[in-house]
Amino acid sequence: GDKLAVSVRVAPLGSRLVVVLVEDRTEAHRIDAVRRDFVANVSHELKTPVGALALLSEAVLSASDDPEAVRRFAERMQREAHRLGNLVQDLIDLSRLESHDPLTRAERVNLAEVVEDALGRAREVAAARDIELVGSAPPGLVVLGDFDQLVTGLGNLVGNAVNYSPEQTKVVVAVRREGELAEISVTDQGIGIPEQELKRIFERFYRVDPARSRVTGGTGLGLSIVKHIAATHGGDVTVWSVEGSGSTFTLRLPLLGDPPQSGEDRADDGVLE
Ligand code: ADP
Repeated sequence: GDKLAVSVRVAPLGSRLVVVLVEDRTEAHRIDAVRRDFVANVSHELKTPVGALALLSEAVLSASDDPEAVRRFAERMQREAHRLGNLVQDLIDLSRLESHDPLTRAERVNLAEVVEDALGRAREVAAARDIELVGSAPPGLVVLGDFDQLVTGLGNLVGNAVNYSPEQTKVVVAVRREGELAEISVTDQGIGIPEQELKRIFERFYRVDPARSRVTGGTGLGLSIVKHIAATHGGDVTVWSVEGSGSTFTLRLPLLGDPPQSGEDRADDGVLE
């Protein structure tokens, strides 16, 4: 990101400085363009449910002598309000992400706690749809980062796994150590993602045909938030999916080295697997 580009400016010497500044300007312009696009997209995405709410409330008023019609309009209003609420929450998540440098607030974060909180957020929705939600992490896996962001990121993956799965299926969160990295995977038995869509799903506002699932209120921002969080923590997020049978999203984060332990041997890589 943005912040890195700015920090490159301090290169001290002669002609190199010029080159560096030019790169910096180009990057600044690119970021500017991305911002403008983003604001345009947000405005559009906000206008859609707001416009629908305005029309539906008019419809309710003029159908007041037909209780069945009123009921149908009110239900649609509820869905639009839900969608609007999700969008606002995603925007809050995004602006939080961009408003502070994660490195200045970084703390030691235990992944087992992140998993527990992320699962907790999805528990109610999963139970209502009879989806089994399981997961845990081996103890002692610690990353340097922002706890709330990590819960938001993993929570988005778990939320999607539940949302895009039929009833009576299973969602599993697994954490393992892979050398210097922690791999946190979220596996579902849901509708999957067509191969040609895989490379676009992490883009802001990109949604695979909403008609293929019963999920209402999606914003297309969830995965772009996950990608952003992974990047600010020095990691990445990848997806593996088979349409019709399920998906696995994997978040990889650099682990914080074990603190020195006196008297006993430190655990070797692999022992914790
Ligand atoms: P949305 O708010 O639409 O869920 P996301 O950015 O979280 O936005 O996801 C983008 C798109 O990727 C979704 O619209 C959905 O089609 C697809 N997707 C994400 N996660 C899954 C999953 N676990 N199973 C199937 N499709 C998924």
